[in-house]
Amino acid sequence: MIATAQKHLVQPWPTAGDIGAEARGGMVSGDGIYVTDSEGRRLIDGPAGMWCVNAGHRRKELADVLHEQAMALSYNSPWYTMNQPSVTLSQRLADYAPGDLDHVFYTTGGSSAVETALRFMQFANNVKGRPDKKMIISRQGGYHGSTYLSASLNGRPRDHDWMDSASEQVIKLSCPNPFRRPEGMSEQVFCDFLVAEFRTVIEKTGKERIGAFIAEPVMASGGVIIPPQGYLPRMRALCADNDILFIADEVVTAFGRLGHVFASQDVFGITPDMITFAKGVTSGYFPLGGVMISSRLFEDLRRSNHSDAMFAHGLTYSSHPIGCAVALKNLDILEDGLLDHARAISGYFQASLKTLEDLPLVGEVRGLGLMACIECVADRISNNPLTLDLTVGKRIDGHCQDLGLLVRPLINMCVMSPPLTITPSQIDEMVSILRTSIERTQD
Ligand code: PMP
Repeated sequence: MIATAQKHLVQPWPTAGDIGAEARGGMVSGDGIYVTDSEGRRLIDGPAGMWCVNAGHRRKELADVLHEQAMALSYNSPWYTMNQPSVTLSQRLADYAPGDLDHVFYTTGGSSAVETALRFMQFANNVKGRPDKKMIISRQGGYHGSTYLSASLNGRPRDHDWMDSASEQVIKLSCPNPFRRPEGMSEQVFCDFLVAEFRTVIEKTGKERIGAFIAEPVMASGGVIIPPQGYLPRMRALCADNDILFIADEVVTAFGRLGHVFASQDVFGITPDMITFAKGVTSGYFPLGGVMISSRLFEDLRRSNHSDAMFAHGLTYSSHPIGCAVALKNLDILEDGLLDHARAISGYFQASLKTLEDLPLVGEVRGLGLMACIECVADRISNNPLTLDLTVGKRIDGHCQDLGLLVRPLINMCVMSPPLTITPSQIDEMVSILRTSIERTQD
């Protein structure tokens, strides 16, 4: 965010409404699930920064390894050399990734991971002599990044409707949000509808023109949308039948957020062709992202007749040794009880938040693992958000901040994804603040 000094405030750049009440001062420290601002106010970090501080703040092990790696080898060029932490990390990630997703390309974050995946898709199709197989299917409500093409995939028009040239390459399917399914339609029929919509798009566009389908297993920034049962396996099967690459965007859902290192297989039973990741891979202690790639796709890239070498694509900070060293230590922490804790605590987290559904303003509390969303509605009968004052998320956030909790406001929703270290009493504290804040908002 661009920080704008305003009197004594540090105000986040106002990105058209989804930033909540201004923080009263810059954040200066963190500890566990808490952050403290320059005025000494301590707040629960409800969104774990931006879905990323999975291991919590002030982890000495992570800070130490960052320092140690900087002293040992602070940088090497990924174009000419490899570094030991990245080699070890690749092996460990491949062990966790489903199927034959045995290859990793490191990036600097989520957007660059998504761009990289799409460059792989285009390049592999060029090599196979089918350069027109480049349309990308994404979904309303999805979020995939802030760079030119990744932003074009996003489900929010404001992210891309002013830059049409990239958007011409993208087709968007309906948002798989069971809460917003047509009235009277069962979840099963809704799922059939979503799959049929994809099949129709393939038929109309021609599978020879569609290169990839990209999906977050659980839509994060769109409001923690958990697709209907069976949706992801059926979409995956359609991709396989039509030679369309399935890219699982696990920038949020990986590294423990849903209780596993990767969620695609372990939570949803699917093996994608590529998985993009970032954020929780280093718990936010160093910028790093990447793409897991199937062996089949890797061979396509290797067979390149465009050059003798591999596909020419790289970022200065790809496989940064400090990022990879931090990621290795972060994996140790996850393996050393944090994944187990995340899985064990998620039931209490979800059940406690669910109690807020008795408040008239709350239409639905939904979530999975340690990500959750409170969606507010104008009235509980129609569940209609449209007549609602759409600053409601911001207003809840404002009250929460007064009481010591950061949430992520999204128009009529508030999203939470706390550090995975959260305890039952901290969950109680969070839910109690939310209850008071929502009550104050609806009064
Ligand atoms: N994909 C998803 C699912 C995301 O949530 C985000 C960021 N919120 C991105 C991609 C982009 O990641 P970054 O901001 O690190 O570029």
